[in-house]
Amino acid sequence: MNKKLRDEKREAAGVSKVVVGSQVWLEDPEVAWIDGEVSEIHDQDIKVQLSTGKQIVTNTNSVHAKDPEFPETGVDDMTKLAYLHEPGVLQNLKCRYDHDEIYTYTGNILIAVNPFKRLPHLYDKDVMAKYKGAALADLSPHPYAIAHAAYRHSLSLHTHAQMVNQEISQSILVSGESGAGKTESTKNLMQYLAFMGGRPSSEGRRSVEQQVLESNPVLEAFGNAKTVRNNNSSRFGKFVEIQFNEKARISGAAIRTYLLERSRVCQVSDPERNYHCFYMLCAAPPEESEKYKVGNPRKFHYLNQSSFYELNGVDESKEYLATKKAMDVVGISSDEQDAIFRVVAAILHLGNIEFTKGSEPDSSQPKDDQSRFHLETAAELFMCDKTALEDSFCTRVIVTRGESIKKCLDPAAAAVSRDAFAKIVYSTLFDWLVSKINNTIGQDSDSKFFIGVLDIYGFESFKTNSFEQFCINLTNEKLQQHFNQHVFKMEQEEYRKEEIDWSYIEFEDNQDILDLIEKKPGGILALLDEACMFPRSTHETFAEKLYQTFKDHKRFNKPKLAKTDFTVCHYAGDVTYQSEFFLDKNKDYVVAEHQALLNASKCSFVSKLFPAISEESKSSKFSSLGSKFKQQLQSLLETLSHTEPHYVRCIKPNNLLKPDIFENQNILQQLRCGGVMEAIRISCTGFPTRKPFSEFVERFKIIAPDAVKKSNDEIKSSVMLLEKAKIKGYQIGKTKIFLRVGQMAELDACRTEIL
Ligand code: ADP
Ligand code: MG
Repeated sequence: MNKKLRDEKREAAGVSKVVVGSQVWLEDPEVAWIDGEVSEIHDQDIKVQLSTGKQIVTNTNSVHAKDPEFPETGVDDMTKLAYLHEPGVLQNLKCRYDHDEIYTYTGNILIAVNPFKRLPHLYDKDVMAKYKGAALADLSPHPYAIAHAAYRHSLSLHTHAQMVNQEISQSILVSGESGAGKTESTKNLMQYLAFMGGRPSSEGRRSVEQQVLESNPVLEAFGNAKTVRNNNSSRFGKFVEIQFNEKARISGAAIRTYLLERSRVCQVSDPERNYHCFYMLCAAPPEESEKYKVGNPRKFHYLNQSSFYELNGVDESKEYLATKKAMDVVGISSDEQDAIFRVVAAILHLGNIEFTKGSEPDSSQPKDDQSRFHLETAAELFMCDKTALEDSFCTRVIVTRGESIKKCLDPAAAAVSRDAFAKIVYSTLFDWLVSKINNTIGQDSDSKFFIGVLDIYGFESFKTNSFEQFCINLTNEKLQQHFNQHVFKMEQEEYRKEEIDWSYIEFEDNQDILDLIEKKPGGILALLDEACMFPRSTHETFAEKLYQTFKDHKRFNKPKLAKTDFTVCHYAGDVTYQSEFFLDKNKDYVVAEHQALLNASKCSFVSKLFPAISEESKSSKFSSLGSKFKQQLQSLLETLSHTEPHYVRCIKPNNLLKPDIFENQNILQQLRCGGVMEAIRISCTGFPTRKPFSEFVERFKIIAPDAVKKSNDEIKSSVMLLEKAKIKGYQIGKTKIFLRVGQMAELDACRTEIL
C-alpha cells in the first residue's frame, strides 16, 4: 500500500496514551498484532511484556491500546468495540470464528468469514422462520438478517413513500475475493427472499423464485470453473433484481451478468479447469456422449492442457442430468438443450484442429487426418459447411476500397483465429442462456420495488495482472466510491439522530483514481481505445503513451526497470499491470466470416445465435470491450444509486480452503480491500467510540467515585468524569457519549493509574 495512505490510516486508528500497566497491541510482521502489557516507560520509549513471553522495547507511537475488558466471546458489532482499530477488529473476528460465529456486523455491513465446513444449523428453515418473526434489533448477524432488513425497509419505506408516490428499492452488495463465499452468501440471501416473498407455485407453472434459484445451477455449469482459489469459482459478475408487487410478493426477476472470462475456453493451466459444462458433457450417458462424439475429457486439447479433470465429491454424470433438469425449470426446451450441448461439443472438437503449412506460402491447412476428423465433426455439430469452416480459420477476407481480397493465414494465425472463434461462440452462448432465463422468468414492469443482489468479483492483485484484473479493479473502485459515500452518509445520520455536531468531518474520496482510469478523453481506457484503433500501435507504444501522459499523476507509477508494465495505486493497494495483451483483449469483434458461417447453419439455434450482419459492417470493426464494460458499470451504478444499499463483505480466512485456520495478515488485507477498514477510518475521523451513558459511568466511575455516587444523573456524571480526565472535544448525544480517536485510551490510562 501507498505509504502515505497507510500512515494516514494508522493515524486515524489512534495513537494511544499509555502508562505502566496499560494493555497494548504491538505490530508484528508475521501475525500482524501481538498483545502485551507496558512494564516501563522512559519518555517516548516503552518496554512491553508480550503475551508470547518476549520483551520488546518500542516507541509509544507504534502501539495501540488494547481493551482490558474485551468480552470473551467478542461483540456482534464492531462499533461496540471500545477500540475501533485494526487489532481490535481482528481480535473480535478471530474470537468469534473460533466459536463458529462466522458473521459479524460493522455498523450495517455484514462481515462473513468463510468457515470452509458445513454449518447446517445456521441455515435451517427454522432459522429462516426465526428471522422472519424477530424484531430487527434482536437479530444476530446473518445474511438472513440482511435480506430481512432489505425486505422490511422496502416495505416500511414503501408504505411511507406511498404518500409521496415513490418506492424505494434495496440492493445488497456482496463482495470479497475469489473463494471468500460470495456466491454462497448470495444463495442464502435469495433463499430468504424467496421464503419471505414467495407464493405457492400454481399448477404446472413454476414460481418466479423457484426459477431464480434454479438459474444458479445453469449459470454455474456454464460460467463457473475450478481455479486455484475456488473449486467452484464464478467467472462472471452477476446482479439479480428480484421484483415485488404491491402485496410485497415476488412478481418477476431480471439477471444481469458482467464480463465472463473468455480466455478460459481455450486456455487452462494446472491446477485449474475449464468451465464445468465441458466435463459434464464428457460424462453424459453413453447414447448422448456418442451423439456429441465426446467421451474422455483427456482427449481434448481445451481440457488436457491441465492435468485436473475431477472435482472432489462431484459426479459429473449426475451434474449433467441435474443441469438439464435445472434447464427444464428455467424454460430451456429439450431441442434447445440438445443444440446447446452440440455447440459445447463442437467447441471441444475445434480445439483439436491443428494446423500445418499449406501448399502456398504463408498459408495453412489442417495438420493430419485427426485434425480433419475434428474439423468435420465440429462442422457436423454446428451444422455448417465443412469447407467454409476450414476457410474461416485458414483465410481472412480483407475489404479495402470496396474490394475484398482473400488473404491466407499461416498456421499460427489460423490457430489464433480458431481460438477466437471458440471464445466468441462460447460467450455468445452464455449471453443467450442469460437472456433465455430472463425471458422465462419474466419481468414485472409494474413492480412496486425490487431487491437487487450483486455477486461480483472483488479486488484482484496477482503476480501478473492483465486486462481482466484491470476491469475488475475498476469495478471495485466504482463500488468503493459508492460505499464510501454511503458509509459517510450513515455516519452523519447517526450523529444527526444523536443531535451532535458533525459539520467538520471530512473524508477522502477515490475520484482521482477513477479519473485516471475512465476519464474521457485522456484516461487509461480512452488511451487504450485510441491505441486499438491505430493499426500500428503495439503494447509498447501504448505503455509509452501512458508513461508520458501520467508521469506526474499521484496514482500512477512506472515501476523501476519496467519496459511496458504500469502501476495503479488503487484504494486497496498498488497493482502492477502487464500491458502485453491489453490491446488484444480490449478488441471485441466477431470476425465477419465466422459470423456469416454460423448464420448459415442449418441449426436454427446456431443461426439465431449469430444473426446476419449488414453489408457495411462486414469488415470486422473494432469495438471496445473496456468501454462496453464501463457502460455496463455505469448503468449498474445508476441502478444502485436509486436503491438503499446493504453490504456483505466476504472474507477468506486462509488460502488452503480449510476450516479453522485464521490467517491474520491475509484477513487484514481483505478487510482493507473490502473497504471495512475504510469504513472504520471514516468513522474514526469523527467519533469512533460511542458508549451509552450508563456503560460509560460504570466503566470509569473509579476516576471520580465520590462525585458519581452523589449524582443520579448519568449525563452529569459522564461529563464530570470526562472533565476530571481532562478530555476535550467529545460530544454528548441523546443516549450516548461520542469520543474522538484516542480518548478512550486516555480514559483507560487514567483508570489503570488509579487501579
Ligand atoms: P466466491 O463466490 O466468493 O468465489 P463461493 O461462494 O463459491 O466463493 O465459496 C467457495 C467455497 O467456500 C464454497 O464452495 C463452499 O465450499 C465454501 N463456503 C462458502 N461459504 C460457505 C458457508 N457459508 N458455509 C459453508 N461453506 C461455505
Ligand atoms: Mg462466486
